[in-house]
Amino acid sequence: MAVINLPSAALLGALADRLGPRGLTRDPVEMAPWLTDWRGRYHGRAAALVSPASTDEVRAVVSLCAAQGVAIVPQGGNTSMVGGATPGADGDAILLSLRRMDRIRSVSPDDDILVAEAGAILAHVHEAAAAAGRRFPLTLGAKGSATVGGLVSTNAGGTQVLRFGPMRALVAGLEAVLPDGSLYQGLSALRKDNRGYDLKQLLIGAEGTLGVVTAASLRLFPAVGARAVAWCGIATPGRALALLRFLEARIGQAVESLELVPRVALDLVLAHVPGTRPPLAAPAAWNVLVEAADADLEGALGAALEAGLVDDAALAASEAQAAAFWRLRDSISEAERHAGPALKHDISVPVAAMPAFVEEAAAALEARHPGARVIAFGHLGDGNVHFNVQPPPGPGAAAWLEQRGEAVSGFVYDLVTAQGGSISAEHGIGQMKVAALARTAPAPHLEAQRRIKRALDPAGIMNPGKLLPLT
Ligand SMILES: Cc1cc2nc3c(=O)[nH]c(=O)nc-3n(C[C@H](O)[C@H](O)[C@H](O)COP(=O)(O)OP(=O)(O)OC[C@H]3O[C@@H](n4cnc5c(N)ncnc54)[C@H](O)[C@@H]3O)c2cc1C
Repeated sequence: MAVINLPSAALLGALADRLGPRGLTRDPVEMAPWLTDWRGRYHGRAAALVSPASTDEVRAVVSLCAAQGVAIVPQGGNTSMVGGATPGADGDAILLSLRRMDRIRSVSPDDDILVAEAGAILAHVHEAAAAAGRRFPLTLGAKGSATVGGLVSTNAGGTQVLRFGPMRALVAGLEAVLPDGSLYQGLSALRKDNRGYDLKQLLIGAEGTLGVVTAASLRLFPAVGARAVAWCGIATPGRALALLRFLEARIGQAVESLELVPRVALDLVLAHVPGTRPPLAAPAAWNVLVEAADADLEGALGAALEAGLVDDAALAASEAQAAAFWRLRDSISEAERHAGPALKHDISVPVAAMPAFVEEAAAALEARHPGARVIAFGHLGDGNVHFNVQPPPGPGAAAWLEQRGEAVSGFVYDLVTAQGGSISAEHGIGQMKVAALARTAPAPHLEAQRRIKRALDPAGIMNPGKLLPLT
């Protein structure tokens, strides 16, 4: 059984000496923004916030903490949707921010590789790739805050997974500090390397429980010549999948995104996000946002309209309009936050099963919990939607969430599991889903993961209480 210790005054002093005044703070005001998660659901405490400026400094922090059995919670942009980067309430942990390590170390168009430090923000990675005439395709609503280390550690997905896959498909190599302070140097740009277990893939999606990612080699792709973005009104989620296959038959892999947006989600955005306006003349029951690169999306959509798959469509006439369409999609989480607390479920089922799941699971849930409202939106083409449940409106909403939240989420996860799906498609487990994972994952799967954790982090200092249900 791992024993976690409170950091001693001597340890805090040694960390302060090693990191200097910019590298450590215990000031409650400076620490406060980083002790609550993005959704405002989890509030933690920490003995100190440390912000190393180099991989050597990360190694020093981890070595000093490992020697005394002190817990470390790695943090990047703090945009986790599952409380993954928020320390526990006991205040024993050191919060380790990677945000000062934000350099783009190199860009090699010939290798199609960009090497970024863990604290580099995704939007800056996009800019650095574009400046070299290339492209890093993964993108998501939090791109202005989410960091390379966080994206790696959650195996983030986003809106271009349809074509490029999640981080697992986009990371060529990693540099990481392991829980004993040793360095895993795996940043090489090799396209082929079969020297045994792939430690890089173990660290991707590990949510900071197996070490601290300090840098990543990311795969680049040719820059897009012309990007076409369209907003379509459709009758049912089934039409969305039919539209995807129809478009693929005409313009193939050029289709990079297909995002499902129900009317209720669009209405929330229009009500709460300043500067947004309706994309179509008349509201549709369901909408899809489609993006294609270097292809005749207009012609393909015209054929889809003729075939009756699409009821109405607006093709962005400029980059600004394309950005406005994407803003409608990317602002759904923010709009939901304005509308009040809700239960969030980031789930996947096989792609072919998703359209029926969206409608049938929502109907079943709303029948069982009268007054509750399901908002299911997102990456339908990947078989992944954010299946969120708003409580019945009114003053009893908070009490409803408190009393029924667990049962409602359990109901959703049982439906997902019955379809052979996953209770976490892209946000990870964090602290929010540890109990749900314990309940739904096969026992051998959990036990194998626990053994890996014990082998690499026997003292259990890395991000305790996250990801793995311990026995
Ligand atoms: C508006 C919005 C939209 C989003 N859309 C998507 C989406 O479409 N797809 C998607 O996948 N996610 C999405 N997310 C979730 C979130 O942005 C991702 O999980 C992102 O990868 C987190 O990056 P971060 O730097 O903020 O990590 P943090 O929130 O700081 O940390 C996330 C996890 O990674 C660990 N971690 C962070 N840095 C390191 C490191 N250097 N080494 C080891 N562990 C580390 C933390 O301990 C924690 O467990 C969205 C979030 C928001 C707020």
